[in-house]
Parts: sequence; C-alpha cells; structure tokens
Amino acid sequence: MFNIQLPRHPTRTVLIGKIAVGGKHPVVVQSMTNTDTADIDATVEQVYALWRAGSELVRITVNTMEAAEAVPRIRDALAALGCDVPLIGDFHFNGHKLLTGVPACAEALAKYRINPGNVGKGSKRDEQFAAMIETACRYDKPVRIGVNWGSLDQAHLARIMDENARLPQPRDAEWVMREALITSALESAAKAEDIGLGRDKIILSCKLSGVQDLISTYQELASRCDYPLHLGLTEAGMGSKGIVASTAALAVLLQQGIGDTLRISLTPEPGGDRTQEIVVAQEILQTMGLRSFTPMVIACPGCGRTTSTVFQHLARDIQRYLRDQMPVWRKQYSGVETMNVAVMGCVVNGPGESKHANIGISLPGTGEVPVAPVYVDGIKTVTLKGERIAEEFQSIVEDYVRSHYSATSSSAHSKTVTIHPV
Ligand code: SF4
Repeated sequence: MFNIQLPRHPTRTVLIGKIAVGGKHPVVVQSMTNTDTADIDATVEQVYALWRAGSELVRITVNTMEAAEAVPRIRDALAALGCDVPLIGDFHFNGHKLLTGVPACAEALAKYRINPGNVGKGSKRDEQFAAMIETACRYDKPVRIGVNWGSLDQAHLARIMDENARLPQPRDAEWVMREALITSALESAAKAEDIGLGRDKIILSCKLSGVQDLISTYQELASRCDYPLHLGLTEAGMGSKGIVASTAALAVLLQQGIGDTLRISLTPEPGGDRTQEIVVAQEILQTMGLRSFTPMVIACPGCGRTTSTVFQHLARDIQRYLRDQMPVWRKQYSGVETMNVAVMGCVVNGPGESKHANIGISLPGTGEVPVAPVYVDGIKTVTLKGERIAEEFQSIVEDYVRSHYSATSSSAHSKTVTIHPV
C-alpha cells in the first residue's frame, strides 16, 4: 500500500510546540492520560508510554492547584527521559484560576484545551473565558476550543432553540443540537480572536458520541470555518465497539479531507493498556493510506485449510515484534514504516499475497507438504521447515530491514509483508 494524498478541507496551520497541525500537514495523532496529574511519577510514566507508542501530542487533565503545580515538573521529568512530546492542558470550571495562579503551568503547556460549556455561568462565563485566552496570548500558546455535546453550554442551547422556534419552518431537534455545538465553537473562537488570540492559534472540535451525528456536525463545521479541526468520537466505549464506532465515524470524515488531528477515546479494560488508543488511531490512518507509522502485517483469516495455530501465532508475534522495534527502527531505518509483511495460511492465496509484500511467508495448509516458502520482493528465496520457522522468518525480516532501510539506503521499498497460516 502506498500513502495517498486526498484533497483536504483547507485549514490554517497551527503550531503546537514543534508539531504542525492543519494546512497540508499530515493528520496528527494524539492521546490523553487517565492518571491523576498531581501524581507526577504515574503521569510521567503514562505520557512516556503514550509517546513511545507514537502519540505526537498528549493531553493531561489540569483540574486542581496540585495538578497545575505538577505540570512543569512533569514536563521537566519527561525532558530528562528524552521525551519532548508537547503537553496539552485540559481545563474545566477552574481553568482561569489555575492558568493565572500557576504561571509555570501556563508556560510549560504547549496548548490549552478549553470547553466553552465548562468555563462558568452567567456573567462569570465571559470573564473566566477571557482570563484563559489572555493567558494563552501572554504565553503565545494555541488553544483548542473543544465543545462536547455532554457539556454543551445550556444557555447557548436555549438561545439556539429560541431562534429556531421563531423560524417560519423550525428545524428538527438534531439540527438544533448540531447548530448549538457548531455555533458554540465558532462564537467562542470569534470571542478569542476579539480578545487578541491569533487566528493561527485556534483549533476547534465538536465531539458527540453518535457516529452519524459526528459526521454531519463536522461536515457542517468544516464548511463554515478554516480553523484546523480535532476529530474524535467522544465516549466511544470499550473494546471492539469503541474501535468500530470511532473508525466508522473518522474514516468517513478523513476520506472527505476533514480532520487535522485525532484522538480515539477508548475506554480501557480495567488494568488495560492505555496505548491501545494510539495503535487504533495509527491503524486508521495507515490502513486508509494517509500515513505510515509501523510495518503492516497482512494475514489471512485462516479457514478449514489451516492446519494449526502456528499461523495465528506467527502473524501475532511478527506484528508485535515489528511494533516493538519501531521506537528504535524509526530513528535508524528511514522508510521502514512503509514495509509490508504477509503471513498466509496455505498455498491458495499465500504465494500471491506474499509476492505483493516486501516479505511474505505461506505456512502449509491441510494435506500440503509441511514447508513454508518465503518471498522477498516478489521472489521466492527460501523454504522454511521444522520447529524454528518463526525465528528464522523473524531473522529474514531483520536482515531485510537492515539491508533496505538503513539511513544511507536509497532503495526503501513500500510493499507489504504478508504472513499466511500453517
Ligand atoms: S490463504 Fe489458505 S488458509 Fe488462508 S484463508 Fe485462504 S484458503 Fe484459508
């Protein structure tokens, strides 16, 4: 598979630390911690893990004075580990107090996320919103104005409902909700600009938890502004439901060129790995051909011709191995993230798929000779057999990476490595 360039909805470029978002820049992957930010060690550990997994921006909750005071220490501890991922502060209710009361926090963060529905009520709302925007201006920080349908400003919603009721032909409730979300984001952005925040410092998001609602809201939002848009299906849920719902929504928007940064809001299993949301985000972008992050494994699903679980183990192990190597390979082997490996279960589709990959192996199916032909760049190079097929195949992959993707190599290929079942 090759990276493709889809027409993008035109947006301005916003710099978040060293990361450029919007314009013609690739869609950026971000994540969010679920640690208590005041727990510096736990937060550093999780931010570091998310960054190692490929998160290009990491958001942390800043909800108390202790959390705000921890932010610069977290930033410094990460820097000592060689991790320079931009940190985004997520503020609600008391953000104005934390940002003005802890200047070191305001300075350490690379961006502030402000939810217009949670900055205060009545007359305090504008005042507290202004205090946060003025801090962003003072420290030259970008802001994401992030509206969420679960915390939509109720006064704003009431106003949109009233305006709708006065129309000759009032629109339906879905339209009202969508319009309230979009206008909350756009009007807040306009206020931020009036206060002095540059137009090139603003990113917008309007998150909902329904797939069709999210798609129609972002389509409308994109048609009404040129701010970069952060995508995410909020409260996506756990396991396959969260992955499928996020993918269904974001893939439609990305295909239409909408979205400049994204986060997959998966609920981890108790004790589960927070980095799974990074893997899903990267795999959405990579399987759509929009970006490459890690070598991809093509594997057949297996069927009655598959004689054992060796195939499944090999496909899983090689995928895990490739991903685990990426923090090092990314620096050493230019272009390795575009490599494709095929692991196939028998000779029906095995050799064909293997030939299209950079490296492919076909494990023997039922009734076949117990050997596994390996193809490199479309040519059969060796036939593996015996107990050590997995180790020998991994060794072939390592040799291929070393010989094809060294920093000085000019022959970086862009095919897929396929693995078929035994
Ligand atoms: S490649 Fe072979 S084992 Fe895999 S699904 Fe096709 S027929 Fe079944």
